[in-house]
Amino acid sequence: MDTNPKIRMTKQRQVILEELCKVTSHPTADEMYQMIRKRLPKVSLGTVYRNLEILSELGMVLKLDVGGTQKRFDGNVENHYHVRCTECGRVGDLHMPTDKEIEQKAQALTDFQIKRHSVEFIGVCPECREAGNRRVS
Ligand SMILES: [Zn+2]
Ligand SMILES: [Zn+2]
Repeated sequence: MDTNPKIRMTKQRQVILEELCKVTSHPTADEMYQMIRKRLPKVSLGTVYRNLEILSELGMVLKLDVGGTQKRFDGNVENHYHVRCTECGRVGDLHMPTDKEIEQKAQALTDFQIKRHSVEFIGVCPECREAGNRRVS
């Protein structure tokens, strides 16, 4: 890949990237802001938000196209699957090989050039299942 002249690794952007890569919780911009503030006390939510958008445009972080009201971000840009809790909105990684065949099948059906695919599984996380069980019994 060519080096993109747009990539200027500012200190803020570097910290955001580092913090996002440390977690697997797929934080929202607000959650990222709380994490970043511990290292850069003067940073603003707007700055964190803007930098997350820039990093995702550059392909250095993943912006999750999941349901729910807030965008979530992922430091793992490898193609992988996600599972989302319908109750609390938590998003987890699914460690299974991604299905390359589905991309070939899709490619055969469209003039679009398929680059990747994303799959979101929907379920109820252990904590919410537990809470649900308590309500029922
Ligand atoms: Zn849940
Ligand atoms: Zn993920």
